[in-house]
Amino acid sequence: MKPQVEIYDTTLRDGSQGEGINFSVADKLRIAEKLDSFGVHYIEGGWPGSNPKDIEFFAQAKKRKFKNAKLAAFGSTRKKNTPVEQDDQVRLLIEAGTPVVTIYGKTSMLHVKEVLRCTPEENLAMIGDTVRFLKDHGKFVIYDAEHAFDGFKLDSDYALATWQAAEKAGADFVVLCDTNGGCLPNEIAAITKTALGKLNCKIGIHTHDDIGLGVANALAALETGAVHVQGTINGYGERTGNCNLTSVIPCVALKLKKTSVPVKSLAKLKELSGFVDEVANMRHNPRLPWVGAAAFAHKGGAHVNAVQKLASSYEHIDPSLVGNARNVLISDLAGRSNIVIKAQELGFKLTNDTPELKAILNRVKELENQGYEFEAAEGSLALLIGKALKHREPPFRVDAYHVSMRRDAKETIVEATVKVSVGKKRAQTVAEGDGPVNALDGALRLALAKFFPQLKKVTLTDYKVRILDTATGTGAKTRVLITSSDGKRDWGTVGVNENIIEASLQALVDSMEFALAKTS
Ligand SMILES: [Zn+2]
Repeated sequence: MKPQVEIYDTTLRDGSQGEGINFSVADKLRIAEKLDSFGVHYIEGGWPGSNPKDIEFFAQAKKRKFKNAKLAAFGSTRKKNTPVEQDDQVRLLIEAGTPVVTIYGKTSMLHVKEVLRCTPEENLAMIGDTVRFLKDHGKFVIYDAEHAFDGFKLDSDYALATWQAAEKAGADFVVLCDTNGGCLPNEIAAITKTALGKLNCKIGIHTHDDIGLGVANALAALETGAVHVQGTINGYGERTGNCNLTSVIPCVALKLKKTSVPVKSLAKLKELSGFVDEVANMRHNPRLPWVGAAAFAHKGGAHVNAVQKLASSYEHIDPSLVGNARNVLISDLAGRSNIVIKAQELGFKLTNDTPELKAILNRVKELENQGYEFEAAEGSLALLIGKALKHREPPFRVDAYHVSMRRDAKETIVEATVKVSVGKKRAQTVAEGDGPVNALDGALRLALAKFFPQLKKVTLTDYKVRILDTATGTGAKTRVLITSSDGKRDWGTVGVNENIIEASLQALVDSMEFALAKTS
């Protein structure tokens, strides 16, 4: 059944413009896969015409299978006074090989005259030519009308003409964008209504949160009749951010009561939010609506008392609907169902009645108290569950390691020695590296490859460090998150220690163990 509202995620493109956000290709692939399994309808992967990293992302994404979402490449209308077939940026959009292409174009006369500096007619031609060219190449075309609302307020006839140019050329969607994020919900509703009356194609909405109304504005358009909403997970984005999908998704389902993402996905919303924060190396914002740790936490005695008597007295919904809990730390029940959901995703036959569940939950809590996070470290979590359920012994042991560094006038040499044992057999290897972790990784791989040649296919694709409890200064703990890949899929593993090398080794060992557990 077709959903009443389609969710278009642009975390990987518009969201990556946010301050402090810098996704590697590996990060983008992991987030795309997560969004796909969650059930969003479109994933905008990037702008191939703007950077080589995004071209690489689309090349890698072609090799993956997406179950639910359609992948979109983003770009702009052709350059002025250039035939569309000679425009390199447009060519790269086709080469990205995605089923969907989203292009933005100018609505506002002010921008046509002052920014683009071309005639109003040329802008209309740029829109029409580009949409038609993409349609001729078999693409599903989404037209993002930049400054749609501000442009309409300035010159409504011209704004409409630009949208009609896209529609006439065959655009599947015209998406009205509040690019500067300064409009009010009643303006959004009125202009969306006008667009719906004048256009035959479907209408979408793309908003920004500059005056704190990104979500409200998106909902205003959806209530008026738009059927497609663009935004980012956790509201990442330039300035104050984009329309936050972790608010829009539950608002559409639970407040507007319209169909959108699969119903069973709603309970995974909090986990999705945490996963994206972890991969982005961002601290989770406890005050995020719906999914924040504090979203349903009651402190005041009267509230706690009332909520205990009647949950709905101080809560707008049951927090478990979005995977949240009244108090995350002490809620055994929420912890339980989260672990069961994650374990099933990882392929374990775990239910609420599995006897080992309590032990697994206790172990996870104990490690979380030490600073571990498992949202983006599914490899480490799978090993932990596997050990508890199947009493699996680790396939190898690191008996000892040594890392040294010396520097003279000419160069710096970092060297690592690792001793491993597999059953009764032992191996010792030495490797050099750019830094201590790189040397350690090299030595460990070399030693293990003697026993497990399949590990040669595994590469470390990303490495992130976060300092925990910064208040303690030099005694602070370090959390290391590693992403590995075997070319077909990626997985994350985690290590925590006061010593960054030790934390890195834990994550490296988990990564190799997870790779072996999959193949054995
Ligand atoms: Zn935007």
